[in-house]
Amino acid sequence: MHIQFFGAAREVTGSMHLVDTGRSRVLLDCGLYQGRRKGAFERNRNLPFDAASIDAVVLSHAHLDHAGNLPSLVRSGFRGNIWTTSASADLCRQMLMDSAHIQVNDVKYVNKRRKKQGRTPFEPLYEPQHVEAALDHFRTVDYGESFNPAPGVSARLDDAGHILGSASVTLDLSAGGRERRLVFSGDIGRKGLPILRDPVMPPGADAVIMESTYGSRVHEPASEAKRHLRVCAERVCREGGYLIIPAFSLGRTQEVVYRLNQLWEAGELPRVPVWVDSPLAVRVTDVFNDHRECWDEEMLETMRNEHDGDPLGFETLTYVRDVEQSKALNDRKGPGVIISASGMCEAGRILHHLRNHATTPASTVLFVGYQAEHTLGRKILEGRNPVRIYGREVEILANVERADSYSAHAGRNELLAWSDGVRDAGSVNSWFLVHGELDSQQSLAAALDERGAARVVIPERLQKFEL
Ligand SMILES: [Zn+2]
Repeated sequence: MHIQFFGAAREVTGSMHLVDTGRSRVLLDCGLYQGRRKGAFERNRNLPFDAASIDAVVLSHAHLDHAGNLPSLVRSGFRGNIWTTSASADLCRQMLMDSAHIQVNDVKYVNKRRKKQGRTPFEPLYEPQHVEAALDHFRTVDYGESFNPAPGVSARLDDAGHILGSASVTLDLSAGGRERRLVFSGDIGRKGLPILRDPVMPPGADAVIMESTYGSRVHEPASEAKRHLRVCAERVCREGGYLIIPAFSLGRTQEVVYRLNQLWEAGELPRVPVWVDSPLAVRVTDVFNDHRECWDEEMLETMRNEHDGDPLGFETLTYVRDVEQSKALNDRKGPGVIISASGMCEAGRILHHLRNHATTPASTVLFVGYQAEHTLGRKILEGRNPVRIYGREVEILANVERADSYSAHAGRNELLAWSDGVRDAGSVNSWFLVHGELDSQQSLAAALDERGAARVVIPERLQKFEL
């Protein structure tokens, strides 16, 4: 029996690990590798194994770096089932369709140039019909329910508390008279995150594949997030500008809305119009409302106690569904709050809101998520001016703020608490750290060593280990 790491190995994207018992081959996640365009395209298109040889996929959650290459897998000949929670399956429909449209548009842009140069055009990585085909392979299970994805493999999903429907995976493997239990953490959430339940500790295991994104960082308490929002909202009301919040459509948008709703209910939010302006975020919010089985007790109680029974909506909040309504915001005078995507300001409607409303000191841009290097979000956060938006130079005069208290990932202490919980439940003899930059992985590995972990490994891509 062995495990091989194909992605999220000493990096944070492209989560993909293959468990091979000699009898069955089960793939854990099939994420999109996100990096420089050409390298990323080649790597995502050329899967490092024969897709038809995989018996099943068990999917931890719907983020694209975990699920985003499933259409390529099916397109390359995979015939098995993709097991996940029902909420993850519904989120995948939205996320993968959106991704397909991005893939198609990306290639359109590149091909325009290739055509001029007389070169053959590229094909998109996948298109909407490939997403449909992949969705046909989904099989859904409840948390805690046991299922058999492949011969000699019994599996179970536990709530990872990271995003709606997210799971840690436990696999009981048996082949050739040997038995092994393997736990894959997926992405681990945090205690006390709004909407979601706290992470559920998987049972002990012989070997653990564990994420390590924030292996070296302790987060600000999540409770700070609400205060920060209130202060920013009050400021733009005073100044008559806009509070512009770039946010990822899945997770962060709903979290911000939920916190605004709490402020509204407590009478602490100034009476100001709020718009959620991202078509994907609006559809994803519908999925949140369809999956109350994933809500935590506080969210359910909010629903029962509020007069409108809607924890993701309040009187002054509008979900923008059509383009005209979005464009109308361009000429509207403040104050107002706009939550829009993409989270790093790389594309999407956030661009026209920044162009129209971030050019005055009366406005505030509030970053609630990580801004990767070279993105427009990072440039604005670093105060670089002017910045280029739609090919034109734009002077950002708005007040720029950043809230560190938002993160759907466990911080260092929370990761260690999770590892303690798994270890207490059994004797783990190997820890494989994935989904992290090397320095944060090394820092977490040292802490695990100190706690007496038997063996801690930071696998490189394509490395293979006996279980
Ligand atoms: Zn994730």
